[in-house]
Amino acid sequence: MSLVITPWFGKVSIEYYIKAGGYEGAKKALSMKPEEVIEEVKKSNLRGRGGAGFPTGLKWSFVPRESTRPKYLCINADEGEPGTFKDKYIIKEAPHLLIEGAIIASWAVGINTAFVYIRGEYGKFALLLEKAIEEAYEKGFLGKNIFGTDFSLEIFVHRGAGAYVCGEETALIESLEGKRGNPRIRPPFPATMGLYNCPTVVNNVETLANLPAIIREGGEWFASLGVEKSGGTKLFAVSGHVKKPGIYELPMGTSLKTLIYEYAGGIRENRRLKGVIPGGSSSPILKPQEIDIPLDYDSLMKAGSMLGSGAVIVLDETTCMAKVLQVITRFYAHESCGQCTPCRQGTPWMAKIAERIVSGRGRKGDLDLLVDIARSMMGKTICPLADAAAMPVIAICEKYREELEEHIREKRCPVERE
Ligand code: SF4
Repeated sequence: MSLVITPWFGKVSIEYYIKAGGYEGAKKALSMKPEEVIEEVKKSNLRGRGGAGFPTGLKWSFVPRESTRPKYLCINADEGEPGTFKDKYIIKEAPHLLIEGAIIASWAVGINTAFVYIRGEYGKFALLLEKAIEEAYEKGFLGKNIFGTDFSLEIFVHRGAGAYVCGEETALIESLEGKRGNPRIRPPFPATMGLYNCPTVVNNVETLANLPAIIREGGEWFASLGVEKSGGTKLFAVSGHVKKPGIYELPMGTSLKTLIYEYAGGIRENRRLKGVIPGGSSSPILKPQEIDIPLDYDSLMKAGSMLGSGAVIVLDETTCMAKVLQVITRFYAHESCGQCTPCRQGTPWMAKIAERIVSGRGRKGDLDLLVDIARSMMGKTICPLADAAAMPVIAICEKYREELEEHIREKRCPVERE
């Protein structure tokens, strides 16, 4: 296994980071033409690590090269998807990796101002990042004439206020502008009309953290670490009922089964596995017989789920699936911004039904009703939050139907009773 990001973990101070070869990628990028940097990133098959998995080089190439308006980089450190905790590790353990990645991206796209939008709950990580940014300014790696070139870049840290929807790129932009974090109708897309209606790139923390290695070692090398359409390695945040929860950096295409049983030590107290949510709370759950699957965007999509942010939530046989439904639906009902009727009405409706099943007041027909509500929300809203709320509900109702029906019939949990 070739570790692309994690060898830098623990290299928090700039001196230590430089000693280990840090900022060499940024120096090399600035000696290349911006188009060459974009080309290298395209070759790497790097796909956005925030969840959508859009090819990074392609995303950059949508930004107009010549622009009379300023261009902006928004670094998405909102990390609100339940189960996800990888970006905070990068910020805590290797903040200069992120700063170096931001320099490379900004040079490639022609950006002189970047904002890190970090979730409000990450207060101490925001302070760490601010300190690292200060160190980079002191060394001349940020500010005017970086590494003695004509290129300048300013980075500002902006704290969010705890809204999940602000992880959606247009809501993030609205929030950065000082408004309520409501997602925008697209088009226009941020690449042409983003922050302050100027061309904007929104990239996730982990996406940017991969750039120094791509530029140092080459796009083809990075691509060779992964699978055909997903290059490199990925940070997987494993939580739930495993013996060794944590962050694991593994090549794209590693089997989910290997991640759980070899790296994360298997199921706690040697219990039986009940299900795995493979990419954060919005990704449809997989049953134990479905986990022998490569972890990459296309394989999981083919299996009817998503790689998402790579947040793997493992559930053992003691888990009540009605409670899982309740927790997930309650979360999305709380986080809906309320602009679209299917989401504003559908998410609390699903939460109410899940709540009554858990409390023993479930009705015959509730599962069909849940699936019906979920299906009628999908694809009809401004942002993907409605789909994110609907997909796990459909999967849980379909895959754990028997247990949920028993829960309704018996007016109590069949699992916890045992
Ligand atoms: Fe807001 Fe939900 Fe519509 Fe997204 S889908 S814009 S969160 S109401």
